Amino acid sequence: MIAEVIVDIAASETDRIFDYLCDENTVVGSRVRAPFGGKIVTGFVMRLKETSAYPIEKLKKILPTSDELPALNKECLSLAEKLTARYRVPKALTLRLFLPTEMRTGKVRELTRNYAELAVDIAEMKLSKTAKNQLGAAEYLSQNGKSDCAQLNSLFPGGVSGLAKKGYVKITKEQILRDPYKSVEGEKIKRVLTEDQERAVHTIRTDSRTVQLLHGVTGSGKTEIYLTLIAECLQKGQSSIFLVPEISLTPQMLSQLRARFGKNAAILHSGLSAGERFDEWWRLRTGEAKIAIGARSAIFAPMENIGVIIIDEEHDSSYSSESAPRYNTFDVALLRAKKNGCKLVLGSATPSVDTYKKANDGEFSLIRLEKRINRRPLPEVIIADMRREVRRGNNSSFSTPLKEEIEKCLSTDKQAILFLNRRGYSQTVICKECGYVAKCEHCDVSLTYHKDEDALKCHYCGMRYSMLSSCPDCGGKKLSYAGTGTQRIVAELQKLYPTARILRMDNDTTSGKEGHYKILKTFAEKKADILVGTQMIAKGHDFPSVTLVGILDADMSLHFSDYRSGERTFQLITQVAGRSGRAEEKGKVVLQTFDPENEVLRFATAYDYAGFYNNEISLRAAMMFPPFSKIVRVLVTGEDDKKTLEALKDVYFALEKLYTDNPEKFLFFNKMRSPIKRIQNKHRYQVLMRLCDTGVLPEIYDACAQARTKDVLVSVEENPVNLS
Ligand code: ADP
Ligand code: ZN
Repeated sequence: MIAEVIVDIAASETDRIFDYLCDENTVVGSRVRAPFGGKIVTGFVMRLKETSAYPIEKLKKILPTSDELPALNKECLSLAEKLTARYRVPKALTLRLFLPTEMRTGKVRELTRNYAELAVDIAEMKLSKTAKNQLGAAEYLSQNGKSDCAQLNSLFPGGVSGLAKKGYVKITKEQILRDPYKSVEGEKIKRVLTEDQERAVHTIRTDSRTVQLLHGVTGSGKTEIYLTLIAECLQKGQSSIFLVPEISLTPQMLSQLRARFGKNAAILHSGLSAGERFDEWWRLRTGEAKIAIGARSAIFAPMENIGVIIIDEEHDSSYSSESAPRYNTFDVALLRAKKNGCKLVLGSATPSVDTYKKANDGEFSLIRLEKRINRRPLPEVIIADMRREVRRGNNSSFSTPLKEEIEKCLSTDKQAILFLNRRGYSQTVICKECGYVAKCEHCDVSLTYHKDEDALKCHYCGMRYSMLSSCPDCGGKKLSYAGTGTQRIVAELQKLYPTARILRMDNDTTSGKEGHYKILKTFAEKKADILVGTQMIAKGHDFPSVTLVGILDADMSLHFSDYRSGERTFQLITQVAGRSGRAEEKGKVVLQTFDPENEVLRFATAYDYAGFYNNEISLRAAMMFPPFSKIVRVLVTGEDDKKTLEALKDVYFALEKLYTDNPEKFLFFNKMRSPIKRIQNKHRYQVLMRLCDTGVLPEIYDACAQARTKDVLVSVEENPVNLS
């Protein structure tokens, strides 16, 4: 028998199928060890066949591994092949999406633990009365049965080994599965669905369309609908995939899932250690766990017989991958849903314009949940006109209405959330004398001042520089700080309200797997009055005592030069505002802006999604922006500027030919430096295109695959989330 094997080296030279000899028991999808260039590497069997185009005597033999199941099931194998073809990336790279690192490197250190159990009846043991620990351990084992040796040793030091020597107990080594969330508990609540929720579940069950969009305002009980669907699948013996933007940000969701589904749920996310991740993955592969929960990569979970796939907060930008292959989670989910004949449920309070258009046009089913649970009103939004504040001489970060509301909160024992999407103390440090701006040596971006460390940091490469005492250009001593960040907000707040307990949550305060969890827990337990944070506080949290949300700079995301900036702003404001007034108390939102007449802000403050959508879609149609076209960026990056430019020339030449041959398929075609010219010492160039016909996409991918070299990365991005 011959096996077609992909070796796990993501270089273009090895990006092909190799034939190996194998024995009769070899299974498609299984992991093998393959002799390759004098080494033994990990490989995966893609196909089996009888004959090879190579002389049999030249073929090497693969060595099996001890896996009890093939690593890849049939569906995953065929999905991997589709993605490889679609995105023109090395096959090994696609396979990596489906496998935890441990599976590929074969480095899994299995966690084992010793267990002891009695081998003879306690009455038959001949133990001296002075051997207290042996007696104690024997007693314990006869009462509790098989027990963990470590635990026994802490109770009765040396007891078990003494008993084992005499042959009175049997010791066995067993694999234990690491439980990554031991410290996360949850209450087990099963709710009776409201009429609206029932109706939604009914539609999802019965509507014939694959994609079901659940458009429900924040707090309308979408989560309960997901849980009901998952529970139904579980009952039928089917598995489910449940995607959330970032599970570690939503410990409440996690504890609910744990409480509801226990060991049936496996949680896959980036914060887990490699070993933990492998365990969770393996529980899914063996079918021991039937629910995969995680961020976008969980869409590749090794499940069979999938009954439902759910993408919560479907508009979230984290669903587009930013490294090769740059897949879109929705596209992969749709392929899997179709293959399994199951529903794909998308949920959001603020669906992306693309998704909503499809639902509006009838391609997807559209289910609306217009009311919050228990008809709780959406919070009232107060617009604070910052121009007027400045005119009145208020140059602080807080407007008069915001200060009034914060004071009310503090005096009534309620909590407030203040949102600012910028971490650090100040975004830039500028010399007042000569206009010098502190910039990163490796990136074409300004440095952010971090006051707690008294350092300047680059938010693109992480480089840290000591703070300047004077301007390096002119020697001037007057350095000014522009662009307030979360650290500065906390400092200013503390000065205004010396007794207030303030927490900060941003990338700098949330290191470690449970970093987010700890901050959120402290806040949830009301051990703090105000939580200041970046967009990581915008998502999903449910704090009943929060009655005020302050959006400190609503304009920030409006002025990005991106066709989606209006959409982003609308989504962000709605999400953040949704954190206020979720329980009995009515909530308020104060939105600070220099542009109070802005249409997007108007729609957002009125919670008018339909108004926003109609306005936005007609703008997009007039400008021929997505979803009426597709923006494609080819990004060429490399450390050596000359080599990078050469690759750019190659790819540009091929693309330009495509453009001149098919002008009717292009709305726009241009080559330029990308807005940030350098990141982490890599020069960046781009070819930007807008297509009205995506028929040329495969050729664009081909051109890029050909221009790629060892030193230069050439990637294709479709409707990129980030154009910097
Ligand atoms: P969404 O995901 O739409 O923002 P959630 O699922 O977080 O909304 O629900 C909002 C609140 O309503 C939560 O506190 C949740 O526990 C509660 N809730 C949801 N469904 C029900 C129900 N059927 N009965 C009672 N409370 C519910
Ligand atoms: Zn940098």
